[in-house]
Amino acid sequence: MKSDFIVIGAGIAGLSAAYELSALGQVTVLEQERVPGYHTTGRSAAISSLNFISPTVQALTVASRDFLTNHPECFGAHPLTSLRQSLWVTQPHQIEAHNAMRSEALDRKYRVRELTADEVVSLCPVLRRDKVSMGLLEEDTLDLDVHGMMQGYTKGLRARGGAIESNTAAETIEWDGAWWRVRSGERFFSAPVLVNAAGAWGDVVAEKAGVAPLKIRPLRRTVFTFEAPAGVAPNSWPFVYDTAEQFYFKLENGIILASAFDEIDSPPCDAWADDYDIAAAIERILAVTTLEVRSLKNRWAGLRTFAPDRELVVGPSPGHPGFYWLTGHGGIGLMTAPAVAQALAGLVRTGTLPAHLASLGLVAADLSAGRFDGSPVVEAAA
Ligand SMILES: Cc1cc2nc3c(=O)[nH]c(=O)nc-3n(C[C@H](O)[C@H](O)[C@H](O)COP(=O)(O)OP(=O)(O)OC[C@H]3O[C@@H](n4cnc5c(N)ncnc54)[C@H](O)[C@@H]3O)c2cc1C
Repeated sequence: MKSDFIVIGAGIAGLSAAYELSALGQVTVLEQERVPGYHTTGRSAAISSLNFISPTVQALTVASRDFLTNHPECFGAHPLTSLRQSLWVTQPHQIEAHNAMRSEALDRKYRVRELTADEVVSLCPVLRRDKVSMGLLEEDTLDLDVHGMMQGYTKGLRARGGAIESNTAAETIEWDGAWWRVRSGERFFSAPVLVNAAGAWGDVVAEKAGVAPLKIRPLRRTVFTFEAPAGVAPNSWPFVYDTAEQFYFKLENGIILASAFDEIDSPPCDAWADDYDIAAAIERILAVTTLEVRSLKNRWAGLRTFAPDRELVVGPSPGHPGFYWLTGHGGIGLMTAPAVAQALAGLVRTGTLPAHLASLGLVAADLSAGRFDGSPVVEAAA
């Protein structure tokens, strides 16, 4: 099957990029699993925050919010975001971490407010007053409708003639001088441009294509859910983070989703929840709240994949015409996906970032794969 673009991976990165590229030509998305979004995309906490992130990620988040609130028709009428506050809770032994966050918030002019212990507990009454010293409140975080985002991108891509091939792992990848040729079982796909949006498998896919790996690191994070106390109004608490990043929890429709903030090295795989990380999170949460965890409703883990400098990698691979990286989404891949996809499409089309992204201070070199070996930003092949 021939097309203009092959995208490997149907997580949020691959599908959003495929949607943007489908305005430029025929796109084929190859996904090794039965359903798109099976890996990291389907396992997140679904939050968009403008604070405590790098300037690049902040600009991409701002632009993505514009897209998500004024989205194309294929995303339907239902809103893709809803406002939720985020609360950083400081325990008596965490004042130093609190002060560091506070200075960053002042320096970077975040819309973050310092709270007294009483104010913290009034926002989330299950916190024990004697365990709380103070807090920081982010007023402008958003919950993301990940399912709605995935559906919208899929619908938009298909409406423009794009194809998503599930159960189709890219097994071999070859460059014949003009086309990337991908084999999956007995099937062959070719295109002059190939986008590597394989998440935790990004380096594996690169090596298949003869491209040097970037040494990206998939880090496992375990999440679990349990029932909220009876009588708590749905979604009435902010997203609660421990200031020293020891746990977080989020109340959603009578269920609490929680994590130990863990980052455990993992090979690319179908990640599975770790009992130790669940036990650690429960112990830390019970120490500062009146919550009870009688039984778990669900548990899972996802791989957050980081480049060596923990920033996104979006753009061509120096020396490999038509090979584009789209990786390093870490814990911010959902909230930045719309703008990252626009950035990728701009780089493919003209070798430069779209004007609306450049006007936010974004620079292609900061996203480029070449930054790791000092290569200049390569002009696009297509
Ligand atoms: C616990 C947790 C909480 C998170 N919370 C947030 C949050 O609040 N906000 C936020 O913005 N982000 C969050 N994230 C991060 C976010 O989920 C990721 O950044 C994002 O989903 C990454 O998307 P992706 O498309 O790169 O990866 P994936 O969703 O993993 O997609 C990659 C796809 O490539 C496919 N693939 C790999 N190799 C091949 C091959 N050879 N052939 C074909 N297909 C292949 C895989 O099957 C997979 O479907 C969180 C992540 C976790 C784990």
